[in-house]
Amino acid sequence: MITAADDLRFTLDTDSSKTAMNYSRFLTAVSAARKPSPIRILTELQQRSPPTLISLAGGAPNPNTFPFHSATIKVKNGPSVVFDETTMKRALQYSGSYGIPELISWMKDLQINLHNPPTAGYSPERGHMEMCVTTGSQEGLCKVFEMLVNPGDNILLDAPTYSGTLAALQPLGCNIINVPSDQYGMIPKGLKEILSRWDPADSQKPGSTVPRVLYTIPNGGNPTGASMTTERKREVYELAREYDLLIIEDDPYYFLQFQKPWAPTFLSMDVDGRIIRTDSFSKILSSGLRIGFVTGPKPLVDRVVLHIQASTMHTSTFTQLMVSQLLHGWGQEGFLKHVDGVVEFYRKQRDAMLSSADRWLKDVAEWHAPAAGMFLWIRLKDIADTQQLIMEKALEKEVLLVPGGVFTIDSSVPCPYVRAAFSLSTPQQIDEAFRRLSVLIKEAL
Ligand code: PMP
Repeated sequence: MITAADDLRFTLDTDSSKTAMNYSRFLTAVSAARKPSPIRILTELQQRSPPTLISLAGGAPNPNTFPFHSATIKVKNGPSVVFDETTMKRALQYSGSYGIPELISWMKDLQINLHNPPTAGYSPERGHMEMCVTTGSQEGLCKVFEMLVNPGDNILLDAPTYSGTLAALQPLGCNIINVPSDQYGMIPKGLKEILSRWDPADSQKPGSTVPRVLYTIPNGGNPTGASMTTERKREVYELAREYDLLIIEDDPYYFLQFQKPWAPTFLSMDVDGRIIRTDSFSKILSSGLRIGFVTGPKPLVDRVVLHIQASTMHTSTFTQLMVSQLLHGWGQEGFLKHVDGVVEFYRKQRDAMLSSADRWLKDVAEWHAPAAGMFLWIRLKDIADTQQLIMEKALEKEVLLVPGGVFTIDSSVPCPYVRAAFSLSTPQQIDEAFRRLSVLIKEAL
């Protein structure tokens, strides 16, 4: 059930710690003011009740009047997704705001299997970890930011960062503090130095300016391709404990890690309940279906769901059912096998891009091989700012990249980087693109 805003003290009693988190101090006034929608609660109840329940509640239309009948969607490597008449009616109807129960429970099992979060209490039924489905992880991120970020707040992140994050954060009027990072992600020493401006004890004082939120992309960062080492994650988590920070772990490239075993996540270390994790199926199942997830402490996920109730109401029931049927048909093993195939594809693409970069750009640029994701972050050695080169001249040569300034907080500061994606083009196209880029750079020098 949804937790009231004034009842957000929360005690974890896990094997590894016993800590009280006071979530109310993290909430913005907007989020704290959100109230459960009585109609939406009825929808949740209806979803969980036996079919004998006669509901005269709610304002759901009658699906018998809808034009769609049934569908079978063939799956490349598993059983077809079948929408018989009954399933189709459900798919076309409103559903609960957390997500459809069978998708949520499948995902909770997966999260527990992959991350074993201490907050789950090691059981899907017992623990404090909660999840909800969002319309892509972007919806989850926007809602998490709105829940936690007040105008004037100091927010920590390792820029350059995902432009969608900056687009969501900047209008909130917060003060973004850039934590130094390199190809192994956020640098704990840099974070410590920044935090040393404050006294950790002040974090609990009303009106304190101590940052309360840290945002990071731990794997295959967009745009940098950086992946954070486990050691760094542990150090950052310890600093978060000291200063009572919440960490937003935005991890859409988690499933695109090129090495096994996959890196332990912040969620897997979360003995206190201070991690809010966003996951996405965009890079492995479909970007157009718009399926993402928020995982975190129940009081906070409940707040995100209150926002969902008042905005989208829920992610499309149709797409949730489609994905849920696919996942139940595959089982976790089939899902992870599919992911392995996707990773294999991107690994080859990355390797092709790296050898083309070696062939054409060695003298004029430098880069690090990304351990995850779909991006190569390239620094042009003798070009102070790539904006004009890319936005004007590159187009003339028929090659398109993203100038690095797009991913920085202050786009007026010169940025010598470009982002190249190895997801869509063929190795031949990548090679030709880098040849054109090398000509362009040489002409510009
Ligand atoms: N976070 C990051 C770092 C991303 O790169 C993206 C997509 N490019 C998103 C979130 C949003 O992804 P989606 O909404 O498709 O899940």
